[in-house]
Amino acid sequence: MDRLLSGYRRFRRNRWPERRRQFETLADTGQRPRALVISCADSRVDPGMIFDAGPGELFVVRNVANLVPPFAPDGAWHGTSAALEYAVRILEVPDILVMGHAMCGGVRALLDGAPAGASDFIAPWIQLAAPARDRALARPDILDPQLCCEQETIRLSLANLLTFPWVASRLAAGMLRLYGAHFDIRAGELSLLNEQGGFVTVPGVQPRQKTKHRPP
Ligand SMILES: [Zn+2]
Repeated sequence: MDRLLSGYRRFRRNRWPERRRQFETLADTGQRPRALVISCADSRVDPGMIFDAGPGELFVVRNVANLVPPFAPDGAWHGTSAALEYAVRILEVPDILVMGHAMCGGVRALLDGAPAGASDFIAPWIQLAAPARDRALARPDILDPQLCCEQETIRLSLANLLTFPWVASRLAAGMLRLYGAHFDIRAGELSLLNEQGGFVTVPGVQPRQKTKHRPP
């Protein structure tokens, strides 16, 4: 706790003076985040840091293995679905990004079973992604089961998003876009899921715009 409080004092000393006006504006006008990011709770994968986002920019939901459950309005305690509903129906975010990551412990549990002594909730939660694991392991060209399973889990969460009627309707109306991404912790690199269904590394530097050659 001491380290948390010394971090808070650094925030007050260094960040607050430059951010104060921004926070006051957000307090007055409310939040209008430009994206919902659904990412893993893993402490090494911080969407705010990865996307260099300030306060009010990202609405973030983090859980074990960045999973989205299917639409199930059954009165149970659906934390992820509640956050999704708020972001989509109330805040009307234009983009949703599901971000998985390398060396995901949740996906490891999917492959090897929940860690001993932590099976009350992790085991049933991670079973949400069992179809992703089965698809990954059935691929004949599989080289890295962990990576393949992480990528399939992202695809599964995106597919489950479509089971929410107010996500599907906004997507069909062009009011909402869905994206998948995978973050490599060691390399610090982000890969985006493309329209062909593959993950492609995002250049860390903005590609140069092609300038038109003008005839003399
Ligand atoms: Zn993880």
